[in-house]
Amino acid sequence: MKSIIERIKKGNFWKFHGGIHPPGQKFLTNEKPIRTLELPKELIIPLQQHIGQIGELLVKTGDKVLKGQKLTQFSSPMSVPVHAPTSGVVNAIKPSTIAHPSGMNALCLFITPDGEDKWQERKSCENFHQLSHQEIINKIANAGIAGMGGAGFPTNIKINTKSTINYLIINAAECEPYITADDLLMREQGSSITDGIKILDLLLQPEHILIGIEDNKPEAIKALKKATKDIEKIIVCVLPTIYPSGGEKQLIKLLTGLEVPSSKLPLNLGIVMHNIATCYAIADAVINDSPLIKRVVTITGQSLEKPQNIWALLGTPVHYLLSQCGYPTGDKKHLIMGGPMMGFSLANDNVPIVKTTNCILAPSEQEISTTTKEVDCIRCGQCADVCPSQLLPQELQWSAKAKDYNQLNKLNLFDCIDCGACAYVCPSQIPLVQYYRVAKAEIRQQRMLDLQAEKAKVRFEARKLRLEKEKLARETKHKKAAEARKAVMSNKTDSGKSATSAVAAALARVKAKKLGIKSPTETNDIAESTNNPLDQKSQVAAAIARAKAKKAVSRNEIKETKSVVNDSNTVKTQDKKEAPLVNLENAEEKKLKVAVAIAKAKEKAKAKKWLETESPSFKASITLDNNQEANKEETVTKAKKQQDIEIK
Ligand code: SF4
Ligand code: SF4
Repeated sequence: MKSIIERIKKGNFWKFHGGIHPPGQKFLTNEKPIRTLELPKELIIPLQQHIGQIGELLVKTGDKVLKGQKLTQFSSPMSVPVHAPTSGVVNAIKPSTIAHPSGMNALCLFITPDGEDKWQERKSCENFHQLSHQEIINKIANAGIAGMGGAGFPTNIKINTKSTINYLIINAAECEPYITADDLLMREQGSSITDGIKILDLLLQPEHILIGIEDNKPEAIKALKKATKDIEKIIVCVLPTIYPSGGEKQLIKLLTGLEVPSSKLPLNLGIVMHNIATCYAIADAVINDSPLIKRVVTITGQSLEKPQNIWALLGTPVHYLLSQCGYPTGDKKHLIMGGPMMGFSLANDNVPIVKTTNCILAPSEQEISTTTKEVDCIRCGQCADVCPSQLLPQELQWSAKAKDYNQLNKLNLFDCIDCGACAYVCPSQIPLVQYYRVAKAEIRQQRMLDLQAEKAKVRFEARKLRLEKEKLARETKHKKAAEARKAVMSNKTDSGKSATSAVAAALARVKAKKLGIKSPTETNDIAESTNNPLDQKSQVAAAIARAKAKKAVSRNEIKETKSVVNDSNTVKTQDKKEAPLVNLENAEEKKLKVAVAIAKAKEKAKAKKWLETESPSFKASITLDNNQEANKEETVTKAKKQQDIEIK
C-alpha cells in the first residue's frame, strides 16, 4: 500500500484496458456559474429513483406539503424516501413517463408549488463529530440519498460496513463528454464537498482518501486542493483524460492498480467509492438537515441558445429546463438524458429530473446523426480493443441477437458497464450497447422469475414436510394411546377390569345410538323409574295431552252447570253458541289422545325390537311393560268412555 501511495504522489498512475478519446464538448457549459431557476408550475416526483424497492406513500391527493417533507418512507432496507422539493399541494398520484431507457411509466406524485417555498422544521448540526455513527447513517438514510453518479445505490447501505477500508475513493472524474455538473459543483462548493468527505472518513475510517479527477478540469482541481489542503489523508489525484476513467472498476485500476474480479465488489478489496455530488448531498443532509431535493444538471447541446448548469429541483420536467435554456420551440425533439455515450433517448420532454440525472442533451442534427444504418459486423475487432472491461463486444452482440443467455453469461455480459466505447468505434454502426441493455433486462427478468419459482418450490417443500411431520406425530400419539389402553385392559387388577367394562359399555352405547334407541343402561334407568321404555319426550307429550283433555272436560262441566242455572232463553242462546266449541275441543282431545297412543306404540315397538334382538335379558321387563301398557290403554279407554258419556 505504501508503494501505491508513493507512486500516486509522484503522479504515476496505472492504465486500464482500452478506452477512447471522444470530443469533450465541455466548453459549452464549463465557463458558466450554476444557475438557480424560478419554481416550475408543476413537479413530478417518481416514487422510485434508486436501485431497490419503492417506498411506502405517506401523502394523498389534496394534501399540503412543506419543502423537505417526506413523501414516502422505508418499505424495506433497500428503499430510500423521496421528499417534497418545495411547499405546495399534492394534486395527483398517478403513473407517468419516467427517466428510463424503455420510456416506461411508473407511479409519480404531482405537486403544484404554492410559491412560498416554505421549509419544514429543520435542525442543523454545528459539529457532526458529536453524532454517533448510527445517528449519521440515519440522517443520510432519512435524507433519501442514493448514488448520484448514475448508479442510484442507497448510500446508507454502502456506508454501513464493518469491513476494513483501505481506500475511500471519491469519483470526480466526470469523463463523459458534454457533462460539467460535477466540475462546477467542485468549483462552487469545494468546502461542502470536503465536509461530506470528512463525514465519510468518520464513518468508514479508511487508510487513505483518493479524489480521482481528470486533468481537463483545472479550476475544480484548484478548488479541491485548496479545500482539502489541511487534511493529510486526502490526495487529489489528477488523471489523464480518457473515456471511461469514471467507471468504478476503471478508476480503481487507474488509482491503485488493483483489478476488481468479475462478479466481485470493490469492498472485497477494501475499497469504497462515492461520487463527488453524493459527498455534497451527505454534508447537506448531516449538517443542514436538508434531504436530497435538488441537484446540479447540465443542460447542453448545440440546439440550445443558452446551455448551462442548473440547480434543478428533483421532479422538474425536462421541458421547463429546456425552455430556460433557449430551446427552439416547434423543433423535432431528440433529447438524451445523460451524456452522449451512456445516456438514453427520452420518450418525451415531460420526463422529470431524478436523483441520478446529471445531464440533458439536446443535440443538433449535425452533432448526433440518427440516419446512419446498421450493417453486418465485419469482425474488425476494434470494439474489443477499446472495451475497458476486456470483453468481446462482437460475440456479445451475436449471442444477444440469438438470445443465448447461457453464452452471454459465459462472456460476462454483466461486466459490461454500458460505456458505449465499442459502439463509438464500430465501423458497421451497430448499436452494440442497445443489444446489451435489452439482453441484460431479459436476463434480469428471467432471473427474477426463476427466483420466484425457486421460492415457491421451497414454500411447497416446507409445507409438504410440515404436513408429513404432523401426520407422523398424530400416528405416534394414537399408537401410544392404543398401547396404553391395551396395557390397562390386559391388567388383571380391579382397575384393569373396570377399564375393560367401561370400554365395552362405551361401545354398546355407540351401537345403540346408531340404531336410534336408548342404550341398555339408559333404558334400564327409565324402566326402573317409570317401568316404561318410552323416552322422556313421549312421556312429556302424553302428560301435556292428558292435561289438555282434563281442562277441556272441566270446562264443559262448568258450561253445563251454567246452562241449568240460567233462564231458558239464555240457555238456548248459550247452547247454540257453546255446542260447536265443545265438539271442537272433543275432536282436538281425541286427536291428541290418538297421537299419544301412536307415539307410545311406536316407541314400544322400537324398544321391544331392540330388547328382543340386542338384550334378551330385558325381555322380561318388556313383558312387564306390555302388561302395564295394556292396563294403561284399558284405563284410557274407560276414561274416554266415561267422558263421552258425561259430555252426552
Ligand atoms: S459498452 Fe460494454 S462491451 Fe462495449 S466497450 Fe463498454 S464495457 Fe465493453
Ligand atoms: S467493431 Fe463492429 S464491425 Fe468491428 S468487430 Fe466489433 S461489432 Fe464487428
